[in-house]
Amino acid sequence: MGFNIAVDGPSGAGKSTIAKAVARELGFIYVDTGAMYRALALYVLNRQVPVDDEKAVGQAVENASVTIRYKDGAQQVLLNGENVTGLLRQEKVGNAASAIGAYGKVREKLLGLQRQLAADNDVIMDGRDIGTNVLTDAPLKIFLTASVDARAGRRYKELAERGEKETLDHVRAGIEKRDYDDTHRALAPLRQAPDAVYLDTSDMDIPQVIQAIIKLYHERRTDV
Ligand code: C5P
Repeated sequence: MGFNIAVDGPSGAGKSTIAKAVARELGFIYVDTGAMYRALALYVLNRQVPVDDEKAVGQAVENASVTIRYKDGAQQVLLNGENVTGLLRQEKVGNAASAIGAYGKVREKLLGLQRQLAADNDVIMDGRDIGTNVLTDAPLKIFLTASVDARAGRRYKELAERGEKETLDHVRAGIEKRDYDDTHRALAPLRQAPDAVYLDTSDMDIPQVIQAIIKLYHERRTDV
């Protein structure tokens, strides 16, 4: 069993940036579970299956296979053997991932893969339900969040840098909708685990957040 760090929080809280950096510093593997949901969303979108049709989505994903590889420490997502990593960060894929993440068949499909990675490796895994559902025994759980304005500003900047033209208002509305959907769904809603450490990063810079998590890790890890 590896040492597991679970990081949950809403869209745009900086989970992946922070988790990636912490993984590098500790020599852990970074597992981005959002990318797994995004890969299944891409599969569904490519087949023009309506994302609000739970039954059709459930049937479609039966034929999808998501696997993970690491290249120079970076997670690569393979969808039926094809590396789709570069296609996953588009807004439409994220919104579709949020829609299909509410379905039991979709979540079941990814749960085993996530737990296996955590059993075999020291991992820092980020998502929405890692501390509450996937790795409930993780010795360190972080709930990483920031204000809607801070998150919308960061996401807007990230999209603009990649040449995706979205207005700030549109990005903000997308984040608010995603927050609502992720926290209100019946299955594995986004929620802080009772034993998770709450970190609001609105007024923290990236190195401060990384150092806060590394400090917690050293406090919790007593076997090395
Ligand atoms: O984190 P990211 O924005 O890549 O996640 C995309 C969507 O996938 C989220 O809005 C969420 O609905 C879903 N997701 C999830 N459970 C996870 C990770 C992501 O439901 N563990």
